[in-house]
Amino acid sequence: MMKIEADRTKCDGLGMCEAMAPDFFEVGDDGTVVVLDEQPGEEHRQDLSAAVDACPVLALKLRG
Ligand code: SF4
Repeated sequence: MMKIEADRTKCDGLGMCEAMAPDFFEVGDDGTVVVLDEQPGEEHRQDLSAAVDACPVLALKLRG
């Protein structure tokens, strides 16, 4: 199963991931990313890959 991992110590809160995949990422009140659904369905792989690749500080990973 696919899994999203976010390293909140790296996240700078600019929200590229949220802009690309708002159903899965949200920048929280503390200015770091919140993953809304850590185990998304396979049908979302393309959108999530694009969002992960868009992170300027490489804080996101897609496993599985
Ligand atoms: S794109 Fe990266 S740095 Fe920006 S909010 Fe998302 S995880 Fe954080």
